[in-house]
Amino acid sequence: MAKQTLVMKFGGTSVGSTKALTKVIDIVRDARKEYPRVVVITSAMAGVTDLLLECVKQAAQGSVDGLSHSEAIMKDIHFSTADDLIQDEKLRDKTKQEIDTLILSLIDLCKAVAVLAEASPRAMDAVASLGERMSVRLLGAVLESAGLKIKAFESTELIVTNAHFQNAHPDFKATTEKVHSVLNPLLDEGIIPVTTGFIGATPDGVITTLGRGGSDYSAAIIGSTLPADEVWIWTDVDGIMTTDPRIVKEAKTLSEITYSEIAELAYYGAKVIHPKTIRPLVEAGIGLRICNTFNPSHPGTRLIANVPSDSHARNGQVVKAVTAIRNQRLVTIEGRGMLGVPGVAARAFTAVASTKTSVPLITQASSEQSICFAVPSESAASVLNALQAVFAGEIADEDIDRVWMTEDVSIITVVGVGMRHTPGVAGQVFTQLGNNKANVLAIAQGSSEVSISMVVAAADTELAVRSLHELIVK
Ligand code: ADP
Ligand code: ASP
Ligand code: MG
Repeated sequence: MAKQTLVMKFGGTSVGSTKALTKVIDIVRDARKEYPRVVVITSAMAGVTDLLLECVKQAAQGSVDGLSHSEAIMKDIHFSTADDLIQDEKLRDKTKQEIDTLILSLIDLCKAVAVLAEASPRAMDAVASLGERMSVRLLGAVLESAGLKIKAFESTELIVTNAHFQNAHPDFKATTEKVHSVLNPLLDEGIIPVTTGFIGATPDGVITTLGRGGSDYSAAIIGSTLPADEVWIWTDVDGIMTTDPRIVKEAKTLSEITYSEIAELAYYGAKVIHPKTIRPLVEAGIGLRICNTFNPSHPGTRLIANVPSDSHARNGQVVKAVTAIRNQRLVTIEGRGMLGVPGVAARAFTAVASTKTSVPLITQASSEQSICFAVPSESAASVLNALQAVFAGEIADEDIDRVWMTEDVSIITVVGVGMRHTPGVAGQVFTQLGNNKANVLAIAQGSSEVSISMVVAAADTELAVRSLHELIVK
């Protein structure tokens, strides 16, 4: 059957400059030749979400001094591209006016936050969403100026979420209805809907966001509910690479990757794709491609169905990629009296969950005398407090000797389906780290058996990634 529907998401760098937007115009035009139905999803321009969140954090501390500087930066980045790429004066002025209004609402929101000296998650989302709300207007006008038939609007009209601000969960049923009723009539008329990534709205219409980097997830939500034939994620590198090219220059693009590999990579810190993106696409059987806006003729990375593990091992590609999550702390609960105390792990993780912290890695000594897990550094203090409170009795009775945490560490993960059933991979990995003098503090094997994670001191992050990457290039 001929291909019908394509959803394309453009990341922050891909819409972050005149040069990038010029590429986007060509990419959208070319895609429209191949696919009769095309949906475009945009991130905020590069750096804008960070800047917005910085403004609101400062405001929560009572400072609005930096606001006018941030306002100037945001105006400059949006307006200069509008001047470059929107020829029609009326359209250009209207677009700039709308962006200006959004910037003014940032100022109002930040002033309100400064008065309260507190930013609620809901207020944070109201601010964070402004980046995409500005960029969608800009991109819409730029594409319209290039002669494309588009309609730009906010994804609050499409994605219905719960009220878990800053990390909202979509209601797929309600979203499907909206996606159909809003997008289908446009697509039927050959119009390209251009909408925001990252944001949704509660059933009452309050703006939410899907979590940092969540525009990829937006593409998956819209792609799977339409449903599309394909979702293409346009970014600033040639696809998923053997590791972050910012750490290892020699990193190479992986032309194909399996669902379980990409899921592990995304979960363990490869920023190139948001971890929640994968599942809706797998479940709906939709093709995924990750490609480079600045090198559009490069095929990028294609997702393939999971393959038998030995096929990759036979190709000698046991370890396929290496990734790192920084800014973690290892928390340890230890004590000889823990042996046989029922429910220690359950109580520990319930206490951690009460702080709304997720745990990316857990290890337990087989003697049951200690439990050790990683948490993000920013949550470490509240996790420690919660654990000390829940185990106050055991600590007083000396069944638990101590609950403590390390300085900042990183979780390094090697990924590859060929690792399953390939003997000696763990040995290779640890020998490599040992030879390079990277000290391993903890180890865990992913339950899917396509990854092994180890924890190293923050200072050893690059060293560990580089040395493990050598196992791939070999
Ligand atoms: P976008 O704004 O397009 O969403 P991101 O900055 O979120 O882009 O993600 C792309 C970046 O992810 C790349 O520039 C790269 O530095 C980083 N990255 C980390 N790990 C990987 C990897 N394994 N493959 C490719 N890029 C990676
Ligand atoms: N603009 C949002 C962020 O920076 C979402 C995204 O780019 O995916 O987190
Ligand atoms: Mg991203």
